Amino acid sequence: MKDVRRPDRDVGTDRLGAVSESVIREMTREAHAHDAINLSQGIPDVDEAPEAIKQAAKDAIDAESQYTITWGLPDLREKVSERYADWKGVEYDPETEVTITTGTSEALVSTMLALAQDGDEVIYFEPVYESYIPASRFAGAEPVPIDMTDDLDLDVEALADAAETASLLVLNTPMNPTGKVFTREELEAIEEVVFEHDLLVLTDEIYEHIAYSDDYVSPVSVGELADRTVVCTGMSKTFSVTGWRVGFCLAPEYLSRELRKVHDYTTICAPTPFQRAGVEALSLPDSYYEDLADSYERRRDVLCEGLADAGLDPVVPDGAYYVMARYPTAESDVEFSYRLVREAGVAVVPGSSFYTDPDRDADWVRFTFSRDESTIREAVDRIDEHRWW
Ligand code: GLN
Repeated sequence: MKDVRRPDRDVGTDRLGAVSESVIREMTREAHAHDAINLSQGIPDVDEAPEAIKQAAKDAIDAESQYTITWGLPDLREKVSERYADWKGVEYDPETEVTITTGTSEALVSTMLALAQDGDEVIYFEPVYESYIPASRFAGAEPVPIDMTDDLDLDVEALADAAETASLLVLNTPMNPTGKVFTREELEAIEEVVFEHDLLVLTDEIYEHIAYSDDYVSPVSVGELADRTVVCTGMSKTFSVTGWRVGFCLAPEYLSRELRKVHDYTTICAPTPFQRAGVEALSLPDSYYEDLADSYERRRDVLCEGLADAGLDPVVPDGAYYVMARYPTAESDVEFSYRLVREAGVAVVPGSSFYTDPDRDADWVRFTFSRDESTIREAVDRIDEHRWW
C-alpha cells in the first residue's frame, strides 16, 4: 500500500549518497544497549571540567542569554587571539581573523563549504577522523586519502602526487585515531608541497594540548603555513566540555571572510553562556595544560599496558586520547568490536570506520582513554577475563 506520508520520489541529494551515519556514535549506542564500558566515543568520563569555568557558565546564564555578535563574544575573541599568539607564535586579529563557532565540527564544515566546491579534491591522511569525509562531500568535493596505516610516516611523494590536482589539504595533529604527531621536518616537507601546488590547508588541532611528545608543533608555527591555513580548534577536549559546543576558527582575513559567511547563516553564534565561560577557561594558568597532558599520559600507559597484557597489540600514541590496537584473530574489525561489546562489555570503534573506502577491512580497533583511570582498569580486566584469542 502506498505510504501517503512519503513523497512519490527519491529524497536526499547526490552529495549525501555516500554519507553514512557516524560509526563512533553508533558504538556509543551499542555500549548503552549492552550496559558496557564505553571506550568508543572520545568523551571524558567523570566531570573533569574545571569548577571555575562551570561556575562562569552558570553565572553567564543569568547575565546574558541572547545572541552574541555572529563572529563571537568580543572578550573571547580577544582572549583567543592573545593566548594563541603565545601558543602558536601567530597573531590573529580578533576583529577579522578569529571566529567562534558552534564546536570544532562546525568550524570544519563551515571551512570546507567555504573553501571547497564541486569537483575539488581534498587530501587527508588515513586512518582519519571520520568527519572530514562527509564534510568534503557536503561541499561536493572529492575526498582523496593518503594511507599511512603501515608506519604512520608521511609519504611526501604520495602527497606531492595528490597535490597536482587537489585544492585543499586537511591536517590533524595530534591525530585521531592513531595519536600520530607530525614532526617539524614532516611539516616543513608539507609546507613545501603546499606552496608548490598552491594548496589551502585546514588544520584540526583540537588535541593541541594533549601531546606526549616533545616533537609536537602546531603546523601554523612552521614556515609560512599560517598564511594558507584555517586552524579549527576549540574548548571541547582541552577543558573537557564536549557538550558546550564552542569552537575556534583562526585564519588570515581572506580565508576568515569566506568561512564567516557559512558560519553566519548556519548557527548565527555559538552558545553565549559557554562563550563567556571560555574567557574564564583561557585565563587558567599554564600548569592547567601541563596537568592535563600528564593526566592523559598516565591513562594512556595504563590502557596500553593493560591491552598488551591481554594479548592485543597497541600502537602507543604521541598525542590525543585514543589507542589503535591490533588483535590476533581472523575476524573482521566489525565482528571483533561487536563481539567485544557483547562478551566483555567493552565498546570500541572498528578501525575500518577511519577509512574512506567503506568496504575496506581493517585489523585494528580504537580504544579511548578519555576515561577515569579506574574505568580503564576495569575495562582491561574485563577484556582479559573474556578474551577468546
Ligand atoms: N572526537 C570524538 C571521537 O573521535 C567524538 C566525536 C564524535 O562524536 N564523532 O570519538
